[in-house]
Amino acid sequence: KLHNTILELKGNIRVFCRVRPLLSDDGVETENKVVSFPTAMETLGRGIDLTLNGQKHSFTYDKVFLPDASQEDVFVEISQLVQSALDGYKVCIFAYGQTGSGKTYTMMGKSRLHDQKGLIPRTLEQVFETRQALQSQGWKYEMQVSMLEIYNETIRDLLIPNKSGFDMSRTENVGKQYAIKHDANGNTHVSDLTVVDVRSSNEVSYLLERASQSRSVGKTQINEQSSRSHFVFTLRIMGVNESTDQQVQGILNLIDLAGSERLSKSGSTGDRLKETQAINKSLSSLSDVIFALAKKEEHVPFRNSKLTYLLQPCLGGDSKTLMFVNVSPDPSSVGESLCSLRFAARVN
Ligand code: ADP
Ligand code: MG
Repeated sequence: KLHNTILELKGNIRVFCRVRPLLSDDGVETENKVVSFPTAMETLGRGIDLTLNGQKHSFTYDKVFLPDASQEDVFVEISQLVQSALDGYKVCIFAYGQTGSGKTYTMMGKSRLHDQKGLIPRTLEQVFETRQALQSQGWKYEMQVSMLEIYNETIRDLLIPNKSGFDMSRTENVGKQYAIKHDANGNTHVSDLTVVDVRSSNEVSYLLERASQSRSVGKTQINEQSSRSHFVFTLRIMGVNESTDQQVQGILNLIDLAGSERLSKSGSTGDRLKETQAINKSLSSLSDVIFALAKKEEHVPFRNSKLTYLLQPCLGGDSKTLMFVNVSPDPSSVGESLCSLRFAARVN
């Protein structure tokens, strides 16, 4: 029996595991392939066991959400991080896992129905409610949103405006530079990227809808592409207290990562192979960066991928990072689930 334990990190990196429910088209559990949860007191709510080919693998995280955990249950555990961003911290929340494991469900949710809403809409509701509540104490906040995807190590702006408001055709991105620069204050600037001032969560919902359309317009091929790219939602929060002159600048990055599944090497050629290599490169770079930060290593290899370079000021330092490892309980996915659990286990 292997035992991989993640220590409670003293630093600012935490890992939550979320197991989605079995869906009707998932397979049937067998003795040799099963996801289960330890009931021992010391791992209660933090442990997950996975059996593959009769061998049991055990993991412990900062928190494990069982399949019956609601969107609200999950949000309760991150709302403190949202508050941190309002207090001037830089925050990153990632969803990692194979395609179909529940990353988008966790981040965005499924429908407009309230109890199905994911972290991004709930976060926005909290941010704008808090902004309202803090007005009476003299706080004035300005908020800016940008949304991009990284596909094959190339940035694409998901909010390019044109005459008809927003045109989501990908060709609009052709010829743009999207050069990433970090200034002395730890702010990131992406040249040519659309940044929108927002005043309400409804405004952001509208932008989110347009952005998600732009990732999935028309063809199934593009639909598929959305699971082959990283989606980065960024909310910049600038607050000034008019009675005390106090200022805060926080950033919240919510990232729906590309599917972590490995494609069989023999089966992937051409574009597919290039895609896979780009995803592997950026996911392993992310893992390397988080590992180096957790170990407080001197050299953190931020520059090895677009994603880590883009997020550099929001990782490390006194910023806060949360990684969701999304896992499917589908018995045919147990192999991939094991890889996902191990990916985050490196944070140890
Ligand atoms: P991914 O983004 O990782 O590819 P999705 O978020 O699209 O995966 O989830 C795959 C399917 O599982 C979707 O139909 C989604 O609605 C469903 N699903 C995922 N997580 C949950 C959950 N916690 N509860 C109910 N359904 C879920
Ligand atoms: Mg998805």
